[in-house]
Amino acid sequence: MRLFGRKLGSVQVEVSTHCQLNCLMCPKSIFRKDWIHEHMDLDTFRNVPFKLFRYAHLQGWGEPLLNPNIVEMIEIAKREGCSVGITTNGVLLQEFARELANAGIDLVAVSIASPKLEEHRKIRGCDLYEILEGIRLLSEYGIPKIVVTTIMMKNTVKNLSELIKIAKEYGASEVIANNLDYVPSKDLEELKVFSHEDDRELTRILEDAKKVAKNSGVNVVVKPVKLEECLVCAENPIKNCLVTVDGRIAPCVYLHLPTKSDVIRRVFLGREITIPKVYFGNLKETEFKKIWNGRKCKEFRNVFVRRLLVVPGFDFEIPELPEVCKTCYKAYSV
Ligand code: SF4
Repeated sequence: MRLFGRKLGSVQVEVSTHCQLNCLMCPKSIFRKDWIHEHMDLDTFRNVPFKLFRYAHLQGWGEPLLNPNIVEMIEIAKREGCSVGITTNGVLLQEFARELANAGIDLVAVSIASPKLEEHRKIRGCDLYEILEGIRLLSEYGIPKIVVTTIMMKNTVKNLSELIKIAKEYGASEVIANNLDYVPSKDLEELKVFSHEDDRELTRILEDAKKVAKNSGVNVVVKPVKLEECLVCAENPIKNCLVTVDGRIAPCVYLHLPTKSDVIRRVFLGREITIPKVYFGNLKETEFKKIWNGRKCKEFRNVFVRRLLVVPGFDFEIPELPEVCKTCYKAYSV
């Protein structure tokens, strides 16, 4: 399948919903009683049409290295011509670094909450230096791209420059500073750094971090911290999608949670919201092309296509976001 004569973008595959950690800001910690712990099986994985996509990211709500078939899964996606990456909590990196390299993985992103030992332990409940040693091994085994990802939170963002220096020291080439863009409970809302206002102190911290990155030769991606509605969110459901642990196709991780409930709870601008989960079909029952070209999936994508087609300066109204996206922070650029 081609989009304007080219392949689709990226397919995110939720290979496991298990995780050894209980991070402060993770929905698994909040919805613990409702969580469905599962590994994707190889048959379901083989139904994902990797040939149609440029890139496959093997992670959803869970730790991918816990799936007993993760190495074989990377090899399968690579054989289909996809670039392949994962995001990991890093706990098993030292054990897996060599195998990931041998499987030909293109990108490993490692989540780190803070460069401060105690702060990292408080947020993620694991040892920072064990993770950093794992990153060092990835670098020694020649993984093409090693990325450190972090979530900018009120209590941690001040240490972003230090995180960049440590990432460089251990062999990462890029740091991505994400936002707390899914807020699963009211208690967590005060931790997010983005808002509708300009925050001079935050701007200074982020500018300093960018300078440190430039001087250290590390690429840094800092997500916007001012809420402004965008035409299409960064997840870009026009050409990307999520395959859930049980084979369902969803637009993005923000419209799926591996919980027993049919709904997702999120906090948006101080309000507790409940939205339905959104799935277009299941690869165990229907082939991908039929799902992708099905009415439900097309209608969802076309809202964003129509938003992109609005010519700036002309008096056309921008079509409204899908209802489920109106309370998603990703629709507001962060
Ligand atoms: S706006 Fe949010 S919910 Fe809607 S497609 Fe984008 S990431 Fe998903």
